[in-house]
Amino acid sequence: MIFDIPEEGLDFAEEVSPGVSFKAHMDKTFENVNLTGQIDIESDPVCHRCVEPFHWQISIPLNINLAPYQEPEFSSEEEESELDQDDLNFSFYRNEEIDLSSIVHEQILLETPIQYLCKEDCKGLCPQCGQNLNQSTCSCLPKQRPSPFSALKKIVKS
Ligand SMILES: [Zn+2]
Ligand SMILES: [Zn+2]
Repeated sequence: MIFDIPEEGLDFAEEVSPGVSFKAHMDKTFENVNLTGQIDIESDPVCHRCVEPFHWQISIPLNINLAPYQEPEFSSEEEESELDQDDLNFSFYRNEEIDLSSIVHEQILLETPIQYLCKEDCKGLCPQCGQNLNQSTCSCLPKQRPSPFSALKKIVKS
């Protein structure tokens, strides 16, 4: 409950799931709550291109202001523009409760890539022999695109 936050604030430290932990400090100013801290994620995914497992870690800084959610009223446009709801650093809480886990999960989703790459310019695997091209080159020739004319030539010859 939001009103349980003492004057000096509240500290959290939690392991969300293996390799994912967060620590945060919550401060209350009247009805607004400021959440600062960071989420640390560590994992050993497999590279999308070269299929090598690698170590991946990220620290996501948290700095979120939470205000009590108010049912939108018919307000003038001026008022609306004052409060930009797309602002990532701004959020709402409802019913005097702050759903920390959903805040943390939202941040994690925003920051984790859909496809992990061991490095930005990973060369991947040779499509012909499967050699990891980051480690060494192979002697495969780059695949020639079948020319649309080669089929035509055959027809002419026969
Ligand atoms: Zn890779
Ligand atoms: Zn090759």
